[in-house]
Formats: sequence, C-alpha cells, structure tokens
Amino acid sequence: MSLGMYGDGGSMRGSGIYSQEVSYDEFDCYNCDKRNQEGEVSTDDWGRYIIECEFCSATYLESSLDEDRASDREDADYDAWRASQFD
Ligand SMILES: [Zn+2]
Repeated sequence: MSLGMYGDGGSMRGSGIYSQEVSYDEFDCYNCDKRNQEGEVSTDDWGRYIIECEFCSATYLESSLDEDRASDREDADYDAWRASQFD
C-alpha cells in the first residue's frame, strides 16, 4: 500500500484503481433510528468515503483514510518511519 503519496491530489483523478474497501461497525441512524449492520464502503481515488444509512440515506459518517490515519498517532508515526525507509 502506498496511500498518502498523493495527498495533494489531482494527478490520479478518475482512475478508480486506488479505491479501497473500508469496513465499519453497526450503527444506529440518527435520522430514522434504524440499525445498520456492519458493512463496507468503497473509497474514491483520494481515500474518501461516506457511510450512509441504508434505510433513509442519511449521511452517518463522512471521512477519509487520511483522516482516519491522522487520528491514530501510532499509524502516523509508522508511516513516517516507513517513508524514511524508502527515501
Ligand atoms: Zn436512517
């Protein structure tokens, strides 16, 4: 995986080859109160994804792999370490 190498965006537009599956846990929709089972969504080329309620299509979470990684310091540190190895 070489995610994060194209964070400033644009050059890979529309290829689709960088999309990934993101798994999520079950959640209760804030809008219709129905329970969504755990599942997966596909990211776009930039690693962004939206989790929507399957019943009413309310947006439950809008995030990205980059944001997920930024929220996890250990991962970020690992990426920095790994990048230094390949530099
Ligand atoms: Zn809903």
